[in-house]
Amino acid sequence: MIQVMRSVEELAVQTWRGENTGAPLLQMLREAVGENSGMTRSGASSPSQRILIDAGAFTLFEDIAGQIASQFTMATDIRPNRAPEVNLLAWAAVFAAARDRGEVTDLQVIVASARCESWADRIRDYFDRPVVKEILVPCPHCGLRYVLNSDGDRVAALNATLQPGQEMLVECGNCRQQWVGDFSVIDLGLAAGLPLDVDGIRDARQVS
Ligand SMILES: [Zn+2]
Repeated sequence: MIQVMRSVEELAVQTWRGENTGAPLLQMLREAVGENSGMTRSGASSPSQRILIDAGAFTLFEDIAGQIASQFTMATDIRPNRAPEVNLLAWAAVFAAARDRGEVTDLQVIVASARCESWADRIRDYFDRPVVKEILVPCPHCGLRYVLNSDGDRVAALNATLQPGQEMLVECGNCRQQWVGDFSVIDLGLAAGLPLDVDGIRDARQVS
Protein backbone atom coordinates (compact mmCIF):
# COMPACT_ATOMS: atom_id res chain seq x y z
CA MET A 1 0.00 0.00 0.00
CA ILE A 2 2.92 2.34 0.74
CA GLN A 3 4.21 1.78 -2.79
CA VAL A 4 0.81 2.72 -4.28
CA MET A 5 0.76 5.96 -2.31
CA ARG A 6 4.37 6.74 -3.22
CA SER A 7 3.62 6.43 -6.94
CA VAL A 8 0.41 8.46 -6.58
CA GLU A 9 2.38 11.18 -4.79
CA GLU A 10 5.02 11.28 -7.54
CA LEU A 11 2.39 11.38 -10.27
CA ALA A 12 -0.01 13.91 -8.78
CA VAL A 13 1.53 15.77 -5.83
CA GLN A 14 5.31 16.13 -5.96
CA THR A 15 8.51 14.37 -6.98
CA TRP A 16 11.62 14.03 -4.86
CA ARG A 17 15.25 14.59 -5.76
CA GLY A 18 17.16 14.00 -2.54
CA GLU A 19 15.79 16.53 -0.04
CA ASN A 20 14.19 18.71 -2.69
CA THR A 21 10.71 18.47 -4.10
CA GLY A 22 9.82 19.05 -7.73
CA ALA A 23 6.71 19.21 -9.89
CA PRO A 24 4.66 15.99 -10.06
CA LEU A 25 5.21 13.79 -13.11
CA LEU A 26 1.77 14.41 -14.67
CA GLN A 27 2.33 18.16 -14.50
CA MET A 28 5.81 17.83 -16.04
CA LEU A 29 4.32 15.82 -18.89
CA ARG A 30 1.47 18.28 -19.41
CA GLU A 31 4.01 21.10 -19.60
CA ALA A 32 6.06 19.14 -22.15
CA VAL A 33 2.93 18.97 -24.32
CA GLY A 34 2.02 22.62 -23.76
CA GLU A 35 5.49 24.12 -24.06
CA ASN A 36 5.78 23.03 -27.64
CA SER A 37 2.23 23.84 -28.70
CA GLY A 38 3.02 27.54 -29.11
CA MET A 39 0.17 28.50 -26.79
CA THR A 40 2.15 29.19 -23.64
CA ARG A 41 4.37 32.11 -22.68
CA SER A 42 7.19 32.91 -25.07
CA GLY A 43 10.15 30.85 -23.97
CA ALA A 44 13.87 31.41 -24.27
CA SER A 45 14.19 29.97 -27.76
CA SER A 46 12.30 31.41 -30.68
CA PRO A 47 8.98 29.72 -31.57
CA SER A 48 10.15 28.94 -35.09
CA GLN A 49 12.89 26.71 -33.67
CA ARG A 50 10.36 24.80 -31.58
CA ILE A 51 8.60 21.65 -32.59
CA LEU A 52 4.95 22.64 -32.74
CA ILE A 53 3.47 19.78 -30.75
CA ASP A 54 5.49 17.17 -28.97
CA ALA A 55 3.56 14.21 -30.31
CA GLY A 56 5.34 11.78 -27.99
CA ALA A 57 4.39 13.72 -24.85
CA PHE A 58 0.83 14.30 -26.08
CA THR A 59 0.20 10.61 -26.84
CA LEU A 60 1.70 9.50 -23.55
CA PHE A 61 -0.30 12.05 -21.56
CA GLU A 62 -3.59 11.10 -23.25
CA ASP A 63 -2.93 7.39 -22.76
CA ILE A 64 -2.09 7.61 -19.06
CA ALA A 65 -4.88 10.15 -18.34
CA GLY A 66 -7.36 7.77 -20.02
CA GLN A 67 -6.21 4.79 -17.95
CA ILE A 68 -6.41 6.83 -14.73
CA ALA A 69 -9.92 8.00 -15.66
CA SER A 70 -11.16 4.42 -16.20
CA GLN A 71 -9.53 3.24 -12.98
CA PHE A 72 -11.30 6.09 -11.16
CA THR A 73 -14.67 5.37 -12.78
CA MET A 74 -14.47 1.65 -12.07
CA ALA A 75 -13.82 2.33 -8.38
CA THR A 76 -16.34 5.13 -7.88
CA ASP A 77 -18.97 5.04 -10.66
CA ILE A 78 -18.46 8.80 -10.90
CA ARG A 79 -17.72 10.69 -14.11
CA PRO A 80 -14.01 11.45 -14.21
CA ASN A 81 -12.64 14.97 -13.94
CA ARG A 82 -10.66 16.43 -16.85
CA ALA A 83 -7.52 16.56 -14.70
CA PRO A 84 -5.91 13.13 -14.22
CA GLU A 85 -4.35 14.34 -10.93
CA VAL A 86 -7.84 14.87 -9.45
CA ASN A 87 -8.99 11.42 -10.59
CA LEU A 88 -5.85 9.72 -9.30
CA LEU A 89 -5.99 11.35 -5.86
CA ALA A 90 -9.70 10.65 -5.53
CA TRP A 91 -9.15 7.03 -6.57
CA ALA A 92 -6.29 6.67 -4.05
CA ALA A 93 -8.51 7.94 -1.22
CA VAL A 94 -11.33 5.54 -2.15
CA PHE A 95 -8.87 2.65 -2.57
CA ALA A 96 -7.17 3.30 0.80
CA ALA A 97 -10.54 3.51 2.60
CA ALA A 98 -11.68 0.25 1.01
CA ARG A 99 -8.39 -1.37 2.03
CA ASP A 100 -8.92 -0.18 5.64
CA ARG A 101 -12.38 -1.77 5.59
CA GLY A 102 -10.81 -5.05 4.47
CA GLU A 103 -12.46 -4.94 1.03
CA VAL A 104 -9.23 -4.93 -0.96
CA THR A 105 -7.08 -8.07 -1.22
CA ASP A 106 -3.29 -8.15 -1.14
CA LEU A 107 -3.33 -9.14 -4.80
CA GLN A 108 -5.42 -6.09 -5.69
CA VAL A 109 -2.89 -3.89 -3.90
CA ILE A 110 -0.04 -5.50 -5.87
CA VAL A 111 -1.88 -4.99 -9.16
CA ALA A 112 -2.72 -1.37 -8.35
CA SER A 113 0.84 -0.71 -7.24
CA ALA A 114 2.30 -2.14 -10.44
CA ARG A 115 -0.11 -0.08 -12.55
CA CYS A 116 0.67 3.21 -10.77
CA GLU A 117 4.40 2.48 -10.87
CA SER A 118 4.29 1.75 -14.59
CA TRP A 119 2.64 5.14 -15.25
CA ALA A 120 5.37 6.87 -13.23
CA ASP A 121 8.09 4.85 -15.01
CA ARG A 122 6.75 5.66 -18.47
CA ILE A 123 6.76 9.39 -17.73
CA ARG A 124 10.28 9.18 -16.21
CA ASP A 125 11.50 7.28 -19.29
CA TYR A 126 10.05 10.00 -21.51
CA PHE A 127 12.18 12.65 -19.78
CA ASP A 128 15.27 10.40 -19.58
CA ARG A 129 15.42 9.45 -23.24
CA PRO A 130 18.19 10.95 -25.31
CA VAL A 131 17.44 14.07 -27.32
CA VAL A 132 18.67 13.95 -30.90
CA LYS A 133 18.66 17.07 -33.01
CA GLU A 134 19.76 17.55 -36.61
CA ILE A 135 22.21 20.37 -37.21
CA LEU A 136 21.83 21.76 -40.70
CA VAL A 137 25.31 23.13 -41.28
CA PRO A 138 28.01 21.51 -43.42
CA CYS A 139 30.42 19.35 -41.43
CA PRO A 140 33.58 21.48 -41.01
CA HIS A 141 35.65 18.30 -41.26
CA CYS A 142 34.36 16.67 -44.49
CA GLY A 143 32.17 19.44 -45.89
CA LEU A 144 28.99 17.38 -46.24
CA ARG A 145 25.67 18.83 -45.12
CA TYR A 146 23.53 15.77 -45.83
CA VAL A 147 23.95 12.01 -45.83
CA LEU A 148 21.55 9.25 -46.84
CA ASN A 149 20.11 7.17 -44.01
CA SER A 150 19.41 3.43 -44.20
CA ASP A 151 16.04 4.15 -45.88
CA GLY A 152 17.75 6.20 -48.57
CA ASP A 153 16.35 9.49 -47.22
CA ARG A 154 18.47 12.61 -47.14
CA VAL A 155 19.17 13.59 -43.52
CA ALA A 156 21.52 16.05 -41.83
CA ALA A 157 25.12 14.86 -41.63
CA LEU A 158 25.57 16.42 -38.20
CA ASN A 159 23.43 15.31 -35.28
CA ALA A 160 23.55 16.49 -31.68
CA THR A 161 22.77 13.88 -29.03
CA LEU A 162 22.01 14.67 -25.40
CA GLN A 163 21.89 11.80 -22.96
CA PRO A 164 20.74 12.81 -19.46
CA GLY A 165 23.77 13.42 -17.26
CA GLN A 166 26.19 13.46 -20.17
CA GLU A 167 27.81 16.16 -22.24
CA MET A 168 26.36 17.18 -25.58
CA LEU A 169 27.80 15.11 -28.43
CA VAL A 170 27.73 16.11 -32.09
CA GLU A 171 28.74 13.49 -34.62
CA CYS A 172 29.06 13.57 -38.40
CA GLY A 173 27.24 10.69 -40.09
CA ASN A 174 29.75 10.78 -42.94
CA CYS A 175 33.26 11.18 -41.53
CA ARG A 176 32.35 10.24 -37.91
CA GLN A 177 34.15 13.28 -36.53
CA GLN A 178 32.86 14.08 -33.04
CA TRP A 179 32.51 17.26 -31.00
CA VAL A 180 31.95 16.70 -27.27
CA GLY A 181 30.82 19.33 -24.78
CA ASP A 182 29.25 22.78 -25.14
CA PHE A 183 32.45 24.63 -25.98
CA SER A 184 33.45 22.23 -28.69
CA VAL A 185 29.92 22.41 -30.17
CA ILE A 186 30.15 26.21 -30.13
CA ASP A 187 33.54 25.90 -31.89
CA LEU A 188 31.92 23.66 -34.47
CA GLY A 189 29.32 26.38 -35.13
CA LEU A 190 32.02 28.99 -35.55
CA ALA A 191 33.98 26.74 -37.92
CA ALA A 192 30.80 26.16 -39.97
CA GLY A 193 30.12 29.91 -40.06
CA LEU A 194 26.82 29.61 -38.20
CA PRO A 195 26.62 30.15 -34.44
CA LEU A 196 24.89 27.20 -32.76
CA ASP A 197 22.54 27.83 -29.85
CA VAL A 198 23.52 25.01 -27.48
CA ASP A 199 20.69 25.88 -25.07
CA GLY A 200 18.24 25.71 -27.97
CA ILE A 201 19.56 22.28 -28.90
CA ARG A 202 19.26 21.22 -25.28
CA ASP A 203 15.62 22.38 -25.13
CA ALA A 204 14.55 20.60 -28.30
CA ARG A 205 13.06 17.14 -28.13
CA GLN A 206 12.83 14.77 -31.00
CA VAL A 207 9.30 13.86 -32.00
CA SER A 208 9.05 10.12 -32.09
ZN1 LIG B 1 32.01 15.05 -41.58
